[in-house]
Amino acid sequence: MMADFLDRADDLYSLGVNDILDASDAFESVRRARASLQLIYAKSHLDLDNVESLFGAIEMGNLIGKFPDIEDKTEIRALRASMVTVIYKTLERSIPFPVRDRTIMPPEPFMRFATSIHDLTAPNRSPVTQDVSLLTFNYDVNLDYALHVNRIPFDYCLTGQLPSEHIPLLKLHGSINWGFCEECDRIVAWNMRELNQGLLFPETREIYFNLGSQLPSSTHGDGHKLSTPVLVPPTWNKTDYQPQLAPVWQMAARELAGAENIILIGYSLPETDSFFRYLFALGTQSDTMVRRLWVVNPDEDRTVEERVRTMIGRGIKNRLTFMRLPFGMAIREIFGELTR
Ligand SMILES: [Zn+2]
Repeated sequence: MMADFLDRADDLYSLGVNDILDASDAFESVRRARASLQLIYAKSHLDLDNVESLFGAIEMGNLIGKFPDIEDKTEIRALRASMVTVIYKTLERSIPFPVRDRTIMPPEPFMRFATSIHDLTAPNRSPVTQDVSLLTFNYDVNLDYALHVNRIPFDYCLTGQLPSEHIPLLKLHGSINWGFCEECDRIVAWNMRELNQGLLFPETREIYFNLGSQLPSSTHGDGHKLSTPVLVPPTWNKTDYQPQLAPVWQMAARELAGAENIILIGYSLPETDSFFRYLFALGTQSDTMVRRLWVVNPDEDRTVEERVRTMIGRGIKNRLTFMRLPFGMAIREIFGELTR
C-alpha cells in the first residue's frame, strides 16, 4: 500500500469528502487509537505512521482483548471494523478508473499487465503458452478489473478449488469486494461482472468505484446480508477470517511449489512480514526446479535485495535476478523474457 496511506486518509477526512464524512466515526476512532498507541509505544520500533503496522497492532489488540484506553472488548472489535472502514474508504477515493467512450477502464499499468497475461495464456497468441497464477497482497480491485476487461476467466479459489480454464487470483489478505456471510459462514466475492457501472455521461473522464461501501447494504443468494469488506493486516496470519482464508493460502503454497518462474513485483518484503517468509519457504519446498526468480522493484537503496537474499535458500540463489524498475516500466521486459 501507499507509503503515506494514513496521511492520505487524514487529508480526505479533513477535506470533508462526502463518502468519507459518512464514516466520520470510524476515522475519528482510528485517529484516537493511533494517538493512544503512540503514547505507549514511544519507546518501541512499531511504526505507527505505517497503515500495515497500525492495522496489525489493532488486530493483535482484538485477538488478546486488550488495547490502550479501551476497556471493553466489543469496543476493540468496533475499532477493528473502523480500521477496515478507513482503509476501504481511503482506497475507494484514491484510485481513479479512467473512462473512455463511456467505458470504464482499469488503471494503468494494470491494463497493460492484464493484456500481456492474456497473450501469454491464450493458445496461439504467444510462442510459449504458459500457466499463470497471480498472488497478491493488494486489497484493491485494479488487477481483478483489468483481467475482467481483458476477458480472462479468473477465480479467487475461496473454496479451495480452481475451475478449469481459469487463472487463480489469490488475494492473500482479502479484498474490498469480498464480504462475509454469517449465515453461510463463508466469504462471498462480488464478481466483476456484477459491477453496476451506472449511467456515464459522455464527458465523464474518470470514476471512483465504491465497491466496499456498497457491500454492507447488499445481499447474496436468499437475501443473506454481507459484511464490510474482508481485509486482514499483511503482517499477521492469526486473524478473524483465518478458517475462511486458509483455502486461498493453501492454493498459494501449491502454486508456488509448482512454479518454474517466480516473479515478485513491487513487494518490498518488510521485516515484519513473517507471513510471506513462511509461505515462500513452505511453498517452494518441492521437486520443481525454479528457473527464474525475479524481483521487480526500483529498490534504490538496495534494502529489498538484501532482504530477498537473506530469505531464499542456497538452491535458488543463482536463479535470482533483480529488475530495478517500477512495475509499469518492467512489463515489456518481463513478458518479453517469458516468451523467448
Ligand atoms: Zn449466505
